[in-house]
Amino acid sequence: MRRTLGLQVDLKSRWHDGAVRVGAAAERVGVAAHVLRHWEDEGVVVPDRTPAGHRVYSDEHLHRLEIVRSCQRVGLSLSQIRLVLHRDAQGRDDVIAQHLEHLRRQRAELDAAEAFLTHVLTCEHDLMSRCERCSAYPGA
Ligand SMILES: [Zn+2]
Repeated sequence: MRRTLGLQVDLKSRWHDGAVRVGAAAERVGVAAHVLRHWEDEGVVVPDRTPAGHRVYSDEHLHRLEIVRSCQRVGLSLSQIRLVLHRDAQGRDDVIAQHLEHLRRQRAELDAAEAFLTHVLTCEHDLMSRCERCSAYPGA
């Protein structure tokens, strides 16, 4: 067991500075290791391999993983992110334009929902159904 650990450390130290294995990379980005393997399968971030076949993530890979997380936070799917990562990827601008449109629609819906609830809070009707404004909310 001790011998195995020593071997792993040795393999790691022979790799370039800052490079980490999949477990450490996953921890740093805040996802499970299987998520990074999935991202690799999808071609989003493909790590290098040691001669023994272990995944190694360089600083550049780690930076890309953080970018992927940022893209996920704005609601992009993995297949969209794969396009967005590369400026020259075909269809990239369309993906971004469509998602911007999607976000703007969501914002309009959230603004309407906020205005509706803000009104309901101060509505003077005893029943919402008796209020013209309460009844005017889309979907009501
Ligand atoms: Zn009202």
